[in-house]
Formats: sequence, structure tokens, C-alpha cells
Amino acid sequence: ARTQGMSQWVDYENGMERESNRRFTQSRDLYHALHNNEIRIALQPQVDLASGAVIGAEALARWTRADGSQVPPSEFIPIAEACGLIVPLGRQIIELACQALAALRDAGHSRLPIAVNVSPLQLVHRSFPQELAATLARHGVDPAMLEIEITESSAMEDHLANGEMLARLRSAGFPIAIDDFGTGYSSLGHLRQLPATTLKVDRCFVAEIGKTHNRLAIADMIVLLGQRLNMRVLAEGVETREQAEWLMQRQCPAAQGYLFGAPEALPAFLRRLEGRPAH
Ligand code: C2E
Ligand code: CA
Ligand code: CA
Ligand code: CA
Repeated sequence: ARTQGMSQWVDYENGMERESNRRFTQSRDLYHALHNNEIRIALQPQVDLASGAVIGAEALARWTRADGSQVPPSEFIPIAEACGLIVPLGRQIIELACQALAALRDAGHSRLPIAVNVSPLQLVHRSFPQELAATLARHGVDPAMLEIEITESSAMEDHLANGEMLARLRSAGFPIAIDDFGTGYSSLGHLRQLPATTLKVDRCFVAEIGKTHNRLAIADMIVLLGQRLNMRVLAEGVETREQAEWLMQRQCPAAQGYLFGAPEALPAFLRRLEGRPAH
């Protein structure tokens, strides 16, 4: 038993070493990826449910390695957050979103906002709003065109500090979306204090539409809640006609999901808008 315990300990130690080696390799690779422009954005259309018109897009980070393989953001965003690269990575995403906004404007779509996902670690920097404003000014883009998405759980993590930062961003003219809404634990009181303009219904609730009745009621409540708080409600992960119909009946104005379009590179997004009246 004793030797077995010892060999388990050695296994554990080897495991820990492998794990820390893996982490080190990953963060080193990510650092190089960032400097070699391997991190890009894909734009997913957001639509007006009633008319089907594209009303904006969400920018999603994409890492394509030199060999063409893709690393999903669910893998590299947590690494970036753990090793301190999330701030420069976030800057790169915002820079790319501003470039896309300038390209959209030049193509005659100056009223289509782009939403970017922001980690709570980016919000702790006091100068974040000024930095954002400077990047936008460099591209001649209005703050109203860059929506800041923060997940419900991170907004609530340190709701006083984050709420204050969100209020500063809001007064600088940035729209604010609460992402993955319904999966965190916000009290309604705190939610009401957040200066958000959009409530994004998490896709797990949308996925239940047409299946069971329990979660369906949750999607229903979130739509009503958004209306009561004067926030725009946007349903995420809409994949079927049936879900879109149901949401429309519930007066949910906007949606995003594979039914309307997957995240795509800027040229494909621009082609999608072609032939449609400039918004
Ligand atoms: P999220 O912000 O909730 O983004 C929505 C995710 O759902 C995206 O996954 C998108 O590709 C996917 N999706 C869109 N429509 C559908 C649909 O109809 N069905 C299904 N099943 N999925 C759909 P993605 O691109 O893999 O991103 C995963 C997460 O990584 C994001 O979730 C976000 O939390 C994070 N992320 C992505 N880009 C960034 C970034 O630039 N910064 C930060 N901090 N986080 C990011
Ligand atoms: Ca998001
Ligand atoms: Ca989401
Ligand atoms: Ca999410």
C-alpha cells in the first residue's frame, strides 16, 4: 500500500508538472500568436426579428495557428485571463472591431454597431474608457457604435466596482450589453442598478424553446424583465424558425444565432450586407 501511495504521489507530481508545462507552452504560444496577428475577429450578425434586417454584429475572437488549425476561444480566453494576456488581447480585439467599423462606414453602413466581449480583468484598469475613446477617435468611430458586452456573472462579481466602471463607459456613450443573462445570480436590485442597454438571453434558455415548459418560462421572464427595465432584449443561439417565431410572439425584438448566420470574416459579413439597403 505504501509503495502504491508513493507511486500515486509521483504520478500526481508528474501530472502537475505536465499541467504547468502545458500552461507555460500555451501562454507562450498565445503571446506569439498575438504578436504574429494570428488573433482575428469573426462577426456574427444580429438581426431585427420582425424584419430580418441586420442591425449589428458581435465580434468573436478567433485564433488560427500558422498550420491553419483553430483554437477555440473557450480554450484561449481562460489562458489569456490566467497569464495576464487578456488586456493586450482585448486591446487587439477592440482595434480590429474599430477597423471593421471603419470598413462598414466606408461601405455605407455607418449605423451598424459591433459588440465586443470584455473580461472583468479589462474593467479594473481605470483608464479603460479613455483608452477606448482614443482608439475609436483614431478610426473616426462614434462610441455609440461599439457595444461593450460583459457577462452577467462578471458584472456581479464585484458589482460595485464593475457597476461604477460600466456607468463611466455608459456616460462616455458606449452601449452596454449584459451577456449570458439568466445563468448568473444577480439580484434584481443589482441588475436594475447596472447601466446596461441590452440584455442578452443566454442560449441555454433559447435552446429549450419548443422542448420543455420549465425553461421556456425563464426565457419568457427574461424578455419581460428587459422590457420592464427599458433594456433592449436580444436572444442568443437562435437556431430554428420555431424559436424565432416564439420569440417574436413574446415581443423579443432582436436575435443572433446560426439561423441568421454564423460568425464570419469581415469580407463575408460585408457581402451579406450587399444589396440590402444601408441601415
Ligand atoms: P459568447 O460571448 O456567449 O458568444 C456566443 C458563442 O456562441 C460564440 O462561440 C458563438 O460562435 C456561439 N454561437 C453563436 N450562435 C450560435 C448558435 O446558434 N448555436 C450555438 N450552439 N452556438 C452559437 P465562440 O465564438 O466559440 O465563443 C465562445 C465564448 O468565448 C464567448 O461566448 C465569449 O464568452 C468568449 N469570447 C469570444 N471572443 C472573446 C473576446 O474577444 N474576449 C473575451 N473576453 N471573450 C471572448
Ligand atoms: Ca458575447
Ligand atoms: Ca453569450
Ligand atoms: Ca458565454
